[in-house]
Amino acid sequence: LPPRNFAQGFFENATRISGEAFLEEVNVQHIACAHCPCGCIQVAELREKFAPAHYSTVRVSYDYEPIFAMGTQLSISTPQEILRLIAFIEKQGWDCMSMGNTLAWATEAFLSGTIGEAETEGLSLSYGDTRSYLEAMQRTSEGKGVFFRDLEKGTAFCASKYGGDHFAMHYGGLEPAGYLTGENAVMTWVAGVRHSHLDDNGYSLDQKLLMKDMPLEEQVRMQVEEAQWRMVLNSLVVCLFARGVYDGQVISEGLGALGLDWTPERLKQFGDETLKAKYRLKRSYGFDPKKVIIPEKMFSVRTSTGLLDRERMARRLDLFLEYAGIA
Ligand code: SF4
Repeated sequence: LPPRNFAQGFFENATRISGEAFLEEVNVQHIACAHCPCGCIQVAELREKFAPAHYSTVRVSYDYEPIFAMGTQLSISTPQEILRLIAFIEKQGWDCMSMGNTLAWATEAFLSGTIGEAETEGLSLSYGDTRSYLEAMQRTSEGKGVFFRDLEKGTAFCASKYGGDHFAMHYGGLEPAGYLTGENAVMTWVAGVRHSHLDDNGYSLDQKLLMKDMPLEEQVRMQVEEAQWRMVLNSLVVCLFARGVYDGQVISEGLGALGLDWTPERLKQFGDETLKAKYRLKRSYGFDPKKVIIPEKMFSVRTSTGLLDRERMARRLDLFLEYAGIA
């Protein structure tokens, strides 16, 4: 759980906002997607006083990503305060990770003097200050003030207009999820078709490296194979939490029951081709994976598996493109 705009890989108040803390203090329900027996969607109740002797109660769903974006990224340390921020985002229909990263960029920009009260029209932004974040989002939602209107356009836009590129957390324009696990996670954001942590298993590969060494080439090969296989899973709308269940054999048998002849080999080939097709589409719109910039700050923070190395990252990208056949 990276705090304060990816300042480090460990949040000192993690136990106060852990799954257990949410469960104990605010959770009221687990619900499931249609027909799923897991029920992994966590729902909390947020009770707030809006006038003397008057309270409102709303239900807010939460999980790791919103807790990162509205919690650790802004150094907010209680479930109730995180829920207040998530509830605001939900009402607006904003993307939680984009807004969390953009507010973190704005805070670092304010604290470092990149922007000042002239831009924020008197509002002080500081980590851990829920009220100032609610006020900033209120102004953004009302389109009040140029700076706050700009926040809605995301980190890349704001950094290009106001400065602070080196701590603007985005890859190809998309703000990242809360993983500071190592080079594989960063590669997912750089080379993934959506620059999303959901594009392959980068962060989980990093976690495996905590237990054992693996040659760089093997890491990239596993990452590419996973990226290709996700084309199959995504095309079938398989829940990614269940990705360990749906291997080639299981999917082949399932499709066979519907009278569809898809061998595991044919599925794999479909994944390879679909990833290539997505890259062809991106390139046709001018995308160049070699031009995706890793935020400079990422080279000076310690991930779970150590510091990022520029040469290794360049080598990883070359190998990724080569193994995926999209060089
Ligand atoms: S495991 Fe997947 S399908 Fe099941 S409830 Fe969770 S998100 Fe929905």
